[in-house]
Amino acid sequence: MRHSVKPPIIWLNVLLFLTTFIAAIIAVPWYGMVQGYQAEHWLWLLVAFSFCNLSITAGYHRLWSHKTYQAHPALRVIFAIGGAFALQNSALHWSSDHRIHHKHVDKNDVDPYSAKRGLWFSHIGWMLRHYNKESYHDYGNCRDLQKDWVVMWQHKYYLLLAIATNIGIPLALGLIYHDIAGMLLIVGVLRLVLSHHTTFFINSLAHVWGSQPYTDKNTARDNGILAVLTFGEGYHNFHHIFENDYRNGIYWWQYDPTKWFIKSSQWLGLADKLRTTPKLKIEQAKAKQALKKALEKIEDRPDMQHLKQALNDEFELLVGKIKDYYELKRQLVEHKRSGLVAKYEHSLLLIRYRQIKAERKALQKNWQLMLTHCY
Ligand SMILES: [Zn+2]
Ligand SMILES: [Zn+2]
Repeated sequence: MRHSVKPPIIWLNVLLFLTTFIAAIIAVPWYGMVQGYQAEHWLWLLVAFSFCNLSITAGYHRLWSHKTYQAHPALRVIFAIGGAFALQNSALHWSSDHRIHHKHVDKNDVDPYSAKRGLWFSHIGWMLRHYNKESYHDYGNCRDLQKDWVVMWQHKYYLLLAIATNIGIPLALGLIYHDIAGMLLIVGVLRLVLSHHTTFFINSLAHVWGSQPYTDKNTARDNGILAVLTFGEGYHNFHHIFENDYRNGIYWWQYDPTKWFIKSSQWLGLADKLRTTPKLKIEQAKAKQALKKALEKIEDRPDMQHLKQALNDEFELLVGKIKDYYELKRQLVEHKRSGLVAKYEHSLLLIRYRQIKAERKALQKNWQLMLTHCY
C-alpha cells in the first residue's frame, strides 16, 4: 500500500539528469564533427573525471561514510570541492543515505536505493522522486560528520560550490585553450554524465552482476569490470561485509585505485589510521560462504549426501588451521619486535610455523578439490 501513491517528482533532478544526458549523446558528438576536439579536451576530461570520482570514492564513501581512515584537512577540502564538482549532493547528505543503505541493505522501505526495487530504481529512479524526505531533517546518523568543519562548510555552501566548479572549471579551461563551448561540453557535460552513471553503477549493477565470494546475505556483488569503471568500488560484496576496511579490492592484483590513492596519501602525510580487516576474518568468511554454496549445490543430489558431513568436517579443520596459522604468525612478529626472546625459542616457533603453513596449504588444496567436486 505504501507505494501505491508515488511521492512527488523532484523536477530539478529530472531536468538535470535528462538535459545533461541528452547533451552528452547529441551535442557532444555533433560539436566533435563540426569543430573537432583536441588532445587537451580528452586529457582534461580524464583529469576532471578522476577528480570527481576519487572525491566520491576516497572522500564521500571511504572517508566520511565509513570512517575507514583519517584525512588531513587539506585533503578533506579537496574532496569537498571534488564532491560538489561531481554533483552528488553534499557529503553529509550522501553519507547519511549511504549509512542507511548499509544498515538496511535490500529492505525496500528503508534502504534508499534498494536493489530489490529494480535496476532503474537503484540506479537513478530513487533520486527522481521524494522517496526518503523524512530521513533528512537532522542527519541523525551522521552526528560525527557534523563535527567536521569541512563537511559542514561544504554542506552550507554546496550549491555555490557546485555551480562554481561545474561552470567555472570548464569555463576557465575554455578560456585557456580558446574553446569555451568545447570545454563546456567535454569537461562540463560529458564528464558529469560519465561520473554520475559510473558511480550509480555501484548501487545498481554492483548489486546484481558479479560473484558473492564472502556472503550472500545481501545482493552486493564483486565485479572486476565495474571496479575498472569506478576506481575500485566494484568489489562490493567484500565491501558490504567489511565496510570499515579502507580497501575494497583487498588483493594486490585487484584494481582499486582508491585504495592506492589512500595509501599514497598516507605516505605523503595526508592520511592516517587506515583500517583493514584481519586476514583471518576474511578467510573465515570466504570458507564459510564456499561451504554454504557447496552444501546448496548437493542439496538435491541423493548420490552426494555422503559428502555433507565430509564437507563440514573439512571446513572445521581448515578454519582451525587458518586460526593457528595467524596466531603463530602474530607470535613470531611479536617476538621479533620485543627482541627479548631466546634464539632457540624463536627457532622452535619458526619450525612450528612452517609446519602449520604446510599443513594449511595441504588442507586448502583438499578443500578446493572437494568444492570443485560439488560444483
Ligand atoms: Zn559503502
Ligand atoms: Zn551497496
